[in-house]
Amino acid sequence: MSRRDAMLAEMGLAPIWRLRHAVKSERPPVAAPGVDWIELKQLVSGCTRCGLHKTRTQTVFGVGDPKADWMLIGEAPGAEEDRLGDPFVGQAGRLLDNMLAAIGLHRTKNVYIANVLKCRPPGNRNPEPEEVAQCSPHLLRQIELVQPKLIVAMGRFAAQTLLDTDASIASLRGRLYRYAGRPLVVTYHPAYLLRNLPDKAKAWADLVFARKTMASL
Ligand code: URA
Repeated sequence: MSRRDAMLAEMGLAPIWRLRHAVKSERPPVAAPGVDWIELKQLVSGCTRCGLHKTRTQTVFGVGDPKADWMLIGEAPGAEEDRLGDPFVGQAGRLLDNMLAAIGLHRTKNVYIANVLKCRPPGNRNPEPEEVAQCSPHLLRQIELVQPKLIVAMGRFAAQTLLDTDASIASLRGRLYRYAGRPLVVTYHPAYLLRNLPDKAKAWADLVFARKTMASL
């Protein structure tokens, strides 16, 4: 194991890094351990590591309490987020805010919200593996800086990417995982819930599970 891999393994970063490295990433991560919030924001806003920089209006870094216990991770910015520069500001974001309020949380207090990708895929297409590979170091550094007690992966894409699995959300829900050395739970994406209202009850059960897990940490 190289010195860098050993260091990443110690930081709990090995699984996603190995996976993404294997997905033909040619360049090493830019968000080297050690960059602070200001440097990381600058790196992200000027990032040209994948083709998405050509079509974005702006990068969408993340929002919330930089020392939050809760970290919520979605897929990628949509049209509204690309226009306004904050994650989850569209209709799905309003649902997310309501769900957070139901467990006594607010996006500015004790919660940090970010996406796997910081740039909008054109036409909201699915992120490509190479885009994830190039963007993951940014997310990993955000996690290191926030040091959340619990991560909530929202939706199939975030859950499958962070857990390096093809398993369905239905099969991943209700269990505790680890990502980047932190406990992680899985729930539905708010945009999915807008299209599948009956599954809101399941998302509520996931949040209750997350809240109980948090209380036990
Ligand atoms: N969907 C996401 O996954 N993230 C956003 O920021 C908006 C919609």
